[in-house]
Amino acid sequence: MSVLIIAEQQQSCLDEATLSAVSAGLQLGEVDILVAGHNVAEIAIQAQQIDGVRKVLLADATVYAHALAETLAPLVVQLADSYSHIVAAATSFGKNLLPRVAALLDCAPVSDVTSIVDTQTFIHPIYAGNVLQTVRSQQSKQLLTIRTTAFALAELTGGQAVIEHIAPVAVPQLSRFIDLQLTESEHPELTTAKIVISGGRGLGSAENFAALLNPLADTLNAAIGASRAAVDADYAPNDYQVGQTGKIVAPDLYIAIGISGAIQHLAGMKDSKVIVAINKDADAPIFKVADYGLVADLHTAVPELIQQIKAI
Ligand code: FAD
Repeated sequence: MSVLIIAEQQQSCLDEATLSAVSAGLQLGEVDILVAGHNVAEIAIQAQQIDGVRKVLLADATVYAHALAETLAPLVVQLADSYSHIVAAATSFGKNLLPRVAALLDCAPVSDVTSIVDTQTFIHPIYAGNVLQTVRSQQSKQLLTIRTTAFALAELTGGQAVIEHIAPVAVPQLSRFIDLQLTESEHPELTTAKIVISGGRGLGSAENFAALLNPLADTLNAAIGASRAAVDADYAPNDYQVGQTGKIVAPDLYIAIGISGAIQHLAGMKDSKVIVAINKDADAPIFKVADYGLVADLHTAVPELIQQIKAI
């Protein structure tokens, strides 16, 4: 079996999600990585350091500058013949690219894989994580996106991989890049943070959300997340949303503040190692998944918690 991993990049660095994709790939066969972009030689060198990688395919051209699915898909399709599996992380990037590649190859992709049974059999959650489905694919080529929190990060202790330059392929001129707007945050990135503090509708306002959660996140060097109700009420930006239709996180510590614990929210955080909930309603469903629960008014509990942590 030979596996092509599509590398993902963030601000001129290899994204950690790629390391999880490599871990998954190594369970399937020999792993090559595609690094496509503009001025990405440095990223190819980072990819070369990943333990177990056989070859880094480097497609360095202006056409790949903005990692657009429309331009990358024909490149992946051209390489596809040599691989039994094509794997990307189930991030916005992977979820955008892989279905396009799958359509061009006339394959059915398996999305959000959390476990690999064998080279044709994969487990992934459906119905907001309420059911784990085992899929056996009879296709000659498997296209997978993998849930990054389900696979360990591959080690960066390699350095044996060969870097092979590949030429860009012709792309249809149907779309063009206009602008990229990134949210700037002083806090760690939500999907990779070790600690996540999430706020819900119980915060009551955008002012409370910022005034209570920012100092707590600063104290713990945590990322900030939110429930959909908090996002819909404009307490927090869209990209803070955790859950079925938001981001999937599995940090060491997840603190849910003023969040009821709807099934769609749990779908995004229930794999967190330790879950703490602060809610004034003792019957809130969040307490069913919480390792530690505090039945209290968040307006008094959160400042007290910050004070106690600072005193340690
Ligand atoms: P609520 O359910 O209103 O809970 C607020 C909580 O705050 C309550 O438990 C209350 O007791 C507590 N509270 C209030 N005041 C205080 C106080 N002073 N001190 C302490 N506690 C207090 N939701 C998501 O989060 N993520 C998703 O990705 C998502 N996707 C969805 C997809 C679909 C198709 C659908 C239908 C829904 C989705 N939802 C999602 C919405 C979800 O069903 C819930 O509506 C939402 O999660 C509720 O958010 P919440 O817990 O902040 O609000």
